[in-house]
Amino acid sequence: MAGQGRLSDIMRSLNQANEVGLRIRSAGYVLEKSDMKAMLAELAGSISEAKMELGILQGYLQDKDVELKTMGELLHTKANLRRRGDGYYKSREGRPYGQPYCSYCWEHEHKLMHLHNRILKKDVRICPHCKNEYQAQRTPYLEADALMM
Ligand SMILES: [Zn+2]
Repeated sequence: MAGQGRLSDIMRSLNQANEVGLRIRSAGYVLEKSDMKAMLAELAGSISEAKMELGILQGYLQDKDVELKTMGELLHTKANLRRRGDGYYKSREGRPYGQPYCSYCWEHEHKLMHLHNRILKKDVRICPHCKNEYQAQRTPYLEADALMM
């Protein structure tokens, strides 16, 4: 079916345009005005159909580019993330550092949500997204500077 940006549809439209050209040539470029009009209309139709299909195909390709980029970033993040205690951390040379991310959000949605300290409760951290609570002791802030030594 047309309108899906498939290469086969694009090729079919271009072949139709080509056929019209061949018919004009085989008539020795001499045609009745009405035949000429009909053929030009057919030619314009085939070309605009191919154009439309190409536009759709280009949209798909752009979507795929975005998808690939997102997947690449996710893979990169995944490769650099380390679990420590109950949280996930960015890592440098395989060693986790910085503020912890919610393990639930990462494992279920691949979202990186920093845990926040619960107001007036220093021993509890909370995820602003899923509202899961964590023991601060099991999700500490890890100094990055210590890694440099
Ligand atoms: Zn969460």
